[in-house]
Amino acid sequence: MRDQFGRNIDYMRVSVTDRCNLRCVYCMPAEGVPYVSHQEILSFDEIVRICRIGAELGITKLKLTGGEPLVRKGLPELLKMLKKIPGIEQVTLTTNGTLLKGQINELVSSGLDSVNISMDTLDADKYREVTRGGSVEKVLEGLDAAAEFPELRVKVNCVPLKGADNEEYIRLALLAKEGKADVRFIEMMPIGMGKVFAGQRGEEIYSILEQAYGEAEGYNGHLGNGPAVYMQFPGFQKQVGFISAVSHQFCGSCNRVRLTSEGYLKPCLQYAGGTDLKALLRNGEDDDTIRREMKHTIYSKPAGHQFASAYGENAGEGERNTGNMNSEGGTFERKEMSRIGG
Ligand code: SAM
Ligand code: SF4
Repeated sequence: MRDQFGRNIDYMRVSVTDRCNLRCVYCMPAEGVPYVSHQEILSFDEIVRICRIGAELGITKLKLTGGEPLVRKGLPELLKMLKKIPGIEQVTLTTNGTLLKGQINELVSSGLDSVNISMDTLDADKYREVTRGGSVEKVLEGLDAAAEFPELRVKVNCVPLKGADNEEYIRLALLAKEGKADVRFIEMMPIGMGKVFAGQRGEEIYSILEQAYGEAEGYNGHLGNGPAVYMQFPGFQKQVGFISAVSHQFCGSCNRVRLTSEGYLKPCLQYAGGTDLKALLRNGEDDDTIRREMKHTIYSKPAGHQFASAYGENAGEGERNTGNMNSEGGTFERKEMSRIGG
């Protein structure tokens, strides 16, 4: 369906858990993470019901995310259920990759269309540092296992931190050169812990790669559902993408909404506004009511984020403003990325 600014909203990111087996410094605090109890998390049936109504409203693509989606038991089962919804054309996954090797066969046979693997560096020590204890070996095993399926699109996502060694990005881009995966560099956004970490702009990473690999050309082929700008470096088998939400705002073409693991439908990452669908579901509301509320939330999607001005500021007062969001979006989100569903 179209929102109030005429954008076609056809993509929903669905968080299946707020839990994670890693603690990336810019995403989650080291300890003291307030876990949401199992009863507060949507069941598979509830997720499927919301996605089915979403599909009736024009959602065609779903991305499973979290927290770490692979820590939720039975994820392939959910995937199968979602793939059966009329109108859903694609179900994809974003994961830190550490549990991927053991689950990839079942995920692919359940209909997974593509997988994004988050890996900010290939350096084992630095990876352990940024994830507070993770093993890059495990991620690489997951990546290798995923690359065994030629029909599966595999992308590696990196959020470059200020002060990292240029060599790390040059090494990551080699994965695209060798044809293992498309590699994308995502600018740090001022969400949750991300407010206190400085990232690197897409242009900075591009010039590092240009020096190492030569000038790239714009790549016009279609590679995903999002705002990445893809470049073709000379001799590369796969593409390098840049998702520059802060330095190049792309809200005018945003096509997405988010469903949190607690059943909150969010039309924009930066704002707290949205609708508590779980309350409606558990109140026994019928599909028409849920459809009407979802339609209203999608229609009211704000014009755009204010990431650039949010950096360094105390972003907003108060928690959620349920429902009464104006076209500027209302109160800023204060939750961590892992609780929103990045
Ligand atoms: N655990 C899974 C993973 O790491 O892919 C899925 C959830 S994670 C929140 C999704 C993506 O959000 C990851 O690629 C992570 O690097 C990214 N992310 C987390 N916090 C961010 C921030 N403040 N700015 C930009 N990206 C962020
Ligand atoms: Fe976990 Fe993903 Fe957040 Fe890292 S980015 S802490 S892997 S949810």
